[in-house]
Amino acid sequence: MGASNPHPHCQIWANASLPDEPAKEQASLLEYRARHHSCLLCDYLKVESERGDRLVCENEAFAVVVPYWAVWPFETLVLSKRHLASMDQLTASECDLLGGILKQITTRYDNLFEVPFPYSMGFHQSPTDMTPHEECHFHAHYYPPLLRSATVQKFMVGYEMMATPQRDLTPESAALRLRDASDVHYRDRKS
Ligand SMILES: [Zn+2]
Ligand SMILES: [Zn+2]
Repeated sequence: MGASNPHPHCQIWANASLPDEPAKEQASLLEYRARHHSCLLCDYLKVESERGDRLVCENEAFAVVVPYWAVWPFETLVLSKRHLASMDQLTASECDLLGGILKQITTRYDNLFEVPFPYSMGFHQSPTDMTPHEECHFHAHYYPPLLRSATVQKFMVGYEMMATPQRDLTPESAALRLRDASDVHYRDRKS
């Protein structure tokens, strides 16, 4: 992530066992499904759509929110509106809409910081162990490390390494700033 040589690259990981992050997510999705007979992320998206203040952008098939548990200042979560477990279940038009929503959020990052910067983005989807995973909900995370501007970077240090991550700005204010950085007119409005 910006360690040596600025370049975009992509990795596909296929582990024999689930790594911690997706394993924790799956456990929560399973527990929620058992208790409420519905999908945690479908229900979460409903809440965010009704509130609106942490919603950044959306199209017919996807929505982007700054989750209330965001650790990185402008962390976002891309959620499919339809309950589907993995990328291979996307329809042809949903593939186009996925491309569209990724373009929307990365344009907002570009407009907000107006500088090249490193970030990690990844998809989480159903395990491929040949069993159905009704609990899984296809989504993506963006983890950009920049804080409030192109020159102030967020580091995980001190209390965050010893105890728990702390938020530098509220998810609502991060979402507001990303909403505002929406389009090609953003730079004109600022100048
Ligand atoms: Zn769902
Ligand atoms: Zn995830």
